[in-house]
Amino acid sequence: MSGKVRTLVISPNWIGDAVMAQPLLSMLKQQHPERPIDVLAPPQVVPVWRRIREADDILVTPFRHRALQLGERLKYARILKSRGYGDAYVLPNTLKYALIPWLARIPRRVGYKGEMRYGMINVMHHDDESRSMVPFYSALAREPELPTPQPVRPFLVVGGEESDDVRTRLGLALDRPLVVFAPGAEFGIAKRWPPAHYGALAARVAAAVPGVQIALLGSPNDRETCEQVRAAAGSAAGGIVDLSGQTSLDDAIALIAQACAVVSNDSGLLHIASALNRPVVALYGSTDPDYAPPLSDMSRTVSLRLACSPCRKRECPLGHHDCMNKMSVDLVWSELAPILEKVGQR
Ligand code: SF4
Repeated sequence: MSGKVRTLVISPNWIGDAVMAQPLLSMLKQQHPERPIDVLAPPQVVPVWRRIREADDILVTPFRHRALQLGERLKYARILKSRGYGDAYVLPNTLKYALIPWLARIPRRVGYKGEMRYGMINVMHHDDESRSMVPFYSALAREPELPTPQPVRPFLVVGGEESDDVRTRLGLALDRPLVVFAPGAEFGIAKRWPPAHYGALAARVAAAVPGVQIALLGSPNDRETCEQVRAAAGSAAGGIVDLSGQTSLDDAIALIAQACAVVSNDSGLLHIASALNRPVVALYGSTDPDYAPPLSDMSRTVSLRLACSPCRKRECPLGHHDCMNKMSVDLVWSELAPILEKVGQR
């Protein structure tokens, strides 16, 4: 490793959170353009970091999820020590991630108090819990006593050629408009707008946009949900391509980059679409729409803001799931239709 002082950023574990950390890296780069930034990230979020221009080197965490693995962390800290870091930004709030830069003797270790990480974090920030995710992370670029920066849109970069290749490989025509639906949600059913509603929305999109292709994106766990979407779309099902479980995160990012509109539950794909500045309709049920809103130029947030919301539960504790079940297709269509009209005029 050269004698250059480097910065280490320890990535969050969730895709959406990794996306929302990009403005922090942009601020760090502005402060020290000469300083390379390494990101230590778990494998599932590496494709996001590969699309973040300010991340110079990505190191993949060798640790198992939720495991302390103290010996492994000590070994890894020795490796990191040899890379010459001047500072480290620890984005997860857990103790085990704060251990790594402390063991690596990185002199300046920035983060939130989290799990009482006194000593391990020596530039300690305190969260007031009123901030949305982008300023939450961006605040780490400033001294703790300074005011929180205004939220700016995270920014991911995807090459057009890569998107074309992925689209072709997945059997999607390049000359037809592409609308992406992300009807799943890893976190739990409480975040999901019903598949039957997505299916009815797909039928409206197909009727309004001649030749449209609607791609359903999701993990293998979302297969059943996506099948239900297609089944509910009736005669429009022919224009729907179910890609659940068939795309890597790299593929999904490349596809979303070419979408003329994205409709998504509160999920990592929503934040990717926003960071790619795609027109987005974001559907919130059990989660807070103000906590991590989409920030693209054309974005609409739909939430019924029920008295019980946000409960942040995986399943509805009241048993009715009204926050999503009562979010009508008409309501979502009233937000999506103007976007599709604008896209059609370009
Ligand atoms: S309690 Fe309210 S916000 Fe939570 S899942 Fe049920 S309906 Fe939605």
